[in-house]
Amino acid sequence: MIELTDTHAHLDQIENLDSVLKRALEAGVKAIVAVSSDYNSCIRTLEISKNKIVRILPAFGIHPWEITKEETDKCLEFIKENYHKAVAIGEIGLDYWYKEVKKDKTKKELQQNLYRKQLSIAKEYDLPVIIHSRGAWQDCFTLCKEAGIKKAVFHWYSGPVDILKEIINNDYLVSATPALSYSPQHQDAIKNAPLDSLLIETDSPVFYRNQQGGFNSEPKDVTSTLELVSSIKNSEKTVVAEKTLQNAKKFFNLN
Ligand SMILES: [Zn+2]
Repeated sequence: MIELTDTHAHLDQIENLDSVLKRALEAGVKAIVAVSSDYNSCIRTLEISKNKIVRILPAFGIHPWEITKEETDKCLEFIKENYHKAVAIGEIGLDYWYKEVKKDKTKKELQQNLYRKQLSIAKEYDLPVIIHSRGAWQDCFTLCKEAGIKKAVFHWYSGPVDILKEIINNDYLVSATPALSYSPQHQDAIKNAPLDSLLIETDSPVFYRNQQGGFNSEPKDVTSTLELVSSIKNSEKTVVAEKTLQNAKKFFNLN
């Protein structure tokens, strides 16, 4: 069976986790990178990572939608104290299309400040970063590069192709999700990114549209990401699976 890693899932937001993980294992998913979005989510993700059904690799971070929460300083402290338990800092980044930012421009600065702080933690502890960059692709890239980060993945990248080229030339990665089945921007990005620069993921439990209406994703659906990438790249599934698994192992320092 093909071995897969779901490199981006919000396991802290998933109910009936044991059965979800069992289904993932049955689908060939041997490891899941569990991203966090705020203080409580970091605590919960760390707890979940003790689960033995599938190898769970925690990442700690504050998501750009959660920047106004009071406990951000507490969360940054948590990350510094527990960095050795994490495989990455994430999900962090900027989102200029987020409704709060559209309403109030000062929120943009707040996002940037918190993003910078988390990039410097990643730099200090030599951890890769998982970036949410919606509507803020250029700034996400520039700040990341300026912070001296060596390893970054632009998750679910759906931005302009010229920025994608900068990302790739800088040896950063992008990741594909099941939105490849309908998002022209995401399709364009994955078409233009070499296999060497790709990770596959689900962003579970995100809801994706399909011909039957849609579905709430779970890590087993990384098989559908794999199929979509294979067809867009015109490559065998086994080739894409092997390559993206190697990329994930190298990126997250796994053995
Ligand atoms: Zn996410």
